[in-house]
Amino acid sequence: MNTLIQNAVIIPMTSDTHFHLTGDVGITDKIISHVGKTPEEFIPDTIIDGRGFIVMPGLVNTHNHLSMTLLRSYADDMDLFSWLQDKIWPVEAKLSTEDIYWGSMLGAAEQIRGGITSFADMYFHQEQTIKAITQAGIRGNICATFMGDKKASEERLDVTYKLHQDFNGSADGRISIDMAPHAIYTCTADTLKITADLAQELGCRIHTHISESVKEQKDCMEAHGMTPLAYLESLGCLEVPLYAAHGVYLTDEDITMAKRNNVHVVHNPTSNLKLGNGFAPVEKFIAAGLAPALGTDGASSNNNLNMFEEMHIASLIHKGLHGDPMMLKAHEILQMATINGAKALGLDTITGSLAPGKEADLMMIDTMKPHLQPLNDPISAVVYGAQASDVDTLFCQGKMVMQKRALLTLDEEDILKNAARVSERLTKNQ
Ligand SMILES: [Zn+2]
Repeated sequence: MNTLIQNAVIIPMTSDTHFHLTGDVGITDKIISHVGKTPEEFIPDTIIDGRGFIVMPGLVNTHNHLSMTLLRSYADDMDLFSWLQDKIWPVEAKLSTEDIYWGSMLGAAEQIRGGITSFADMYFHQEQTIKAITQAGIRGNICATFMGDKKASEERLDVTYKLHQDFNGSADGRISIDMAPHAIYTCTADTLKITADLAQELGCRIHTHISESVKEQKDCMEAHGMTPLAYLESLGCLEVPLYAAHGVYLTDEDITMAKRNNVHVVHNPTSNLKLGNGFAPVEKFIAAGLAPALGTDGASSNNNLNMFEEMHIASLIHKGLHGDPMMLKAHEILQMATINGAKALGLDTITGSLAPGKEADLMMIDTMKPHLQPLNDPISAVVYGAQASDVDTLFCQGKMVMQKRALLTLDEEDILKNAARVSERLTKNQ
């Protein structure tokens, strides 16, 4: 099956520079066959007129808690620790498998509507999230969160082991299973050491939160005499590929250590701003040669899963904070939201850019809108002007999952109804 998108503005994200071209994208089954000029021997079964559209890679939401969509707009305007202890953890203790399924379906629908084809998830009852996104047709690096001491974690580690055995590489390779110790302040040293060992054994990645708040940093220095990242290194956790959300308080030494150990830091500007945690030194990450990725965090601390909004906020706050309009240029923000995310998740040979041989994860952005015309610079238009609702059509693995804003794999009405039903039970009387 050959599909041809013709005469589009293409942002392939194959270059470190501000680069785009006008031309075609060819897809053969799930693979991109060509980008630019269509070879004569390519005979399309389907032709899509790309005029008026930007074609670019699907976005990679590198840090999320997908089914926290159920807790959207439920607990706001609170500090991180009160928010977790008083509002989030009591509700999470009541979550059933059915809740996770509908929360995941809701999150999957929202992500598809916003051009996201890959995401990293950290939560509970993850077989339900896998079921939801397998149906949705997008990719997920799925992680079962664990916390506490070795005894408390043992059951959850068994869950990860079983998830890995049952689902790693499933859905035609769209599902990867990684390990998710919640954070250094919720896991004991024993738990973190076991995590490193099991990740080595399974050949998977570690997904965690790091240096998110002043309190985390201060408590770690007092308890262990070192920063959270140094603490993780001391326990062997940096000997396996690791991607870590936030990194707001990473020191210069931490950044050098992150580079030395190929750690991927995920920037979550909305969550950091909303919880009053500050600004990650993203400009230092880039200067040190790290490839920072971008994530929304969960919908309870954002409150949406909108990577366009995340790109826009990331592009503005560092310029304002440092009084430097040259800081974090538009194409660097797009790298964070696409290829850098794919690198963090170990998927950069498969997705994150548009190149022959890669799987066809791509979106068509409708630029025939007043807020996107004239299209003087398509990269600037995407970062500074586009909205999630401008995504018209989305392909994942060569298969259309949204066409002209219609979801093709999910029943949105049914999802909204069921998500409202389970959410009411969870948040009532809290
Ligand atoms: Zn998080």
